[in-house]
Amino acid sequence: MQRFAGKTAVVTGGGRGIGGSIAMALAAEGAKVAVVSRSESSCGASAEAINADYPGAAKAYAVDVSDHEAVQELGKQIIADFGGVNILVNNAGVTRDGLLMRMKEEDWTTVLDTNLKGAFNTVKAFMRVLMKAEDPRIINIASVIGLIGNAGQANYAASKAGLIGFTKSVARELSGRQVTCNAVAPGFITTDMTGELPEKVREEVLGKIPLSSFGEVGDIASAVLFLASKEARYITGQVLAVDGGMTM
Ligand code: NDP
Repeated sequence: MQRFAGKTAVVTGGGRGIGGSIAMALAAEGAKVAVVSRSESSCGASAEAINADYPGAAKAYAVDVSDHEAVQELGKQIIADFGGVNILVNNAGVTRDGLLMRMKEEDWTTVLDTNLKGAFNTVKAFMRVLMKAEDPRIINIASVIGLIGNAGQANYAASKAGLIGFTKSVARELSGRQVTCNAVAPGFITTDMTGELPEKVREEVLGKIPLSSFGEVGDIASAVLFLASKEARYITGQVLAVDGGMTM
């Protein structure tokens, strides 16, 4: 099924992990995809992999989403390259975990600037073009940690809770132009980000997941594709937890 034929999507953090899977899945269903990540090598490799399967579907852009000016320039470049944008997926994210006692100001700023300000920056860059697009969608990748908090992740939890508030406000502001804005809140998904966690922590988390397994990147991509589809036209301002039942 080519649900996204004729559509253009921007996926931040599309170089690997969840974003890489979202970018590939969108291309598999006919979308053209602008793959954005920090490093040239990461977005370049992701776009190359997509183009190997779906020739001409992807283009890579190495930009730091926390850099407001750079993201506004990126917006102009992507709109010039593709002629428009229908779907914006704010997925770029980082962690700098540590208990508050030890958390440095830089750990706070980096996480907030990437995970929260990054989404503000891209929405500013693409909102005008989205307001004129067919089936316009914004999907923000939050986290269950933004809903329930976590010791050692005060910065990350604040960024993701902020992203959820941002999602609902954007949904309200852009609703008049039929732009929907929703968040997906992943639970524990196997990627480089969670690969850094000690085995003991992984086991503890597993014990809290009713479906008794970690999620896969494809589980998040499936939810994002649904929210990006025509079928989801009447859903806005929502947070969809994809977490094996962890936060029900
Ligand atoms: P990864 O660490 O595997 O990948 C993160 C991606 O984001 C990379 O492509 C990276 O670029 C990009 N990125 C990071 N910082 C920036 C920046 N400043 N500018 C541009 N791109 C940037 O993460 P995941 O795939 O695990 O996570 C993706 C999203 O899902 C994040 O928002 C995360 O918070 C969220 N999430 C993940 C969960 C999980 O269990 N994995 C659970 C809940 C939420 P590069 O490749 O160049 O380094």
